[in-house]
Amino acid sequence: QAKQKGGNRVQQFDVIHEQQAKASHQNLARVTQALADGELRVHYQPKVHLRTGKILGFEALLRWQHPEIGLIPPGDFLPLVEQSDLIVEIGNWVLDEALTQLEDWNAQDHDWSVAVNIAARHFQRDDFATTIRQKLQRHATLRPDRLDLEIIESVAIDNIHHANRNLDSCKAMGVRISLDDFGTGYSSLSYLKRLPAQTIKIDQSFVRGILGDHSDQAVVEAIIRLSLAFEREVVAEGVETWPQARMLMLMGCEVAQGFGVARPMPGPAVVEWARSFDIRRFSSQAPSKAVCA
Ligand code: C2E
Ligand code: MG
Ligand code: MG
Ligand code: MG
Repeated sequence: QAKQKGGNRVQQFDVIHEQQAKASHQNLARVTQALADGELRVHYQPKVHLRTGKILGFEALLRWQHPEIGLIPPGDFLPLVEQSDLIVEIGNWVLDEALTQLEDWNAQDHDWSVAVNIAARHFQRDDFATTIRQKLQRHATLRPDRLDLEIIESVAIDNIHHANRNLDSCKAMGVRISLDDFGTGYSSLSYLKRLPAQTIKIDQSFVRGILGDHSDQAVVEAIIRLSLAFEREVVAEGVETWPQARMLMLMGCEVAQGFGVARPMPGPAVVEWARSFDIRRFSSQAPSKAVCA
């Protein structure tokens, strides 16, 4: 009898599993269609130098402009997509969009860079470096060092041999590499030393607590010191207020990205935003004491 019960349970589980698989399949088909129908968008969020207010570049961030639902953030559909080869197609589409946009900015004398997030499944492919080389050739006016590839720290480290081959090839082309969401993985110091990444992006979860939480403060301080010791650039993500920015500068991190500077925006809005940007009006939504002195 017990065996039969167990058997039923397995059967029930199979049914649920099957339904989930079917739902995933349908959702993947929807995203594939969205790509084909031109419903995917790339928004851009600036990275700035806090002391001088210089705009250094923009991170490309994917959105889905759904005709009924509206703008869907990547967290709502990318995790599923990242489990299939569709992420390679979408990742290549984002790269093409971002490089076309960058070429346009550079032609207007804006000396910015563009950063593109690359998923593990995409990055680990044997043809990844070749794909990047071909894209750079297609956008021949671009300087390769204007392209920055953001790789999640844990992905780079999980596959360090494979990762290093692709990273080395990209580095040889002059493309830059950033370790994204740094501090959330399980980075060992020796790994960091071996990874040919030029930039480390401190995860926003630590930046959020930088003023109140002693352990967040300690983590941020340690990452900054580590980056400087290894001669890597360090960028703080998720900087929302001027007091956070000031604390980061005191700790030695001078480059920031976050809602305090600007929220991600559509490509055509960027040049106008840049024209009116003034670091002294950092986070004008924040209370007046947060305004740069
Ligand atoms: P990420 O690469 O770490 O990007 C930063 C995320 O933090 C973005 O969310 C951005 O909108 C958000 N953010 C920036 N400043 C602030 C702030 O001050 N406060 C808060 N609360 N959030 C801030 P988004 O656009 O929803 O993207 C989420 C994640 O999705 C990204 O994290 C990245 O891992 C992934 N992603 C986005 N676009 C792509 C893409 O084209 N390809 C791949 N593979 N992943 C992508
Ligand atoms: Mg990123
Ligand atoms: Mg990040
Ligand atoms: Mg993230």
